[in-house]
Amino acid sequence: MVHPDERNTDGMTNFEKITRSPETLAELLGSMEVLDGPWDHDFARAFCDNCEADNCDAENCEHMAEQDNPLWWLMQEAKEEQA
Ligand SMILES: [Zn+2]
Repeated sequence: MVHPDERNTDGMTNFEKITRSPETLAELLGSMEVLDGPWDHDFARAFCDNCEADNCDAENCEHMAEQDNPLWWLMQEAKEEQA
């Protein structure tokens, strides 16, 4: 049985493979043990700056679906503030 991600990779570079869809890239990012990725920053800014929950950094956050979710971040419009 062939894993779906392993179809049609003939001649593909690893870069092409991991960037062929946002989901694939998000899976890779999510599989790395990143303590403080850019998605955490943008998540906090987008949701938790105004969050009502006590202890919002932990399990009380109302936005668990977007928290620690590289895919959510990949779909956000890029902001110019890299440096
Ligand atoms: Zn929150």
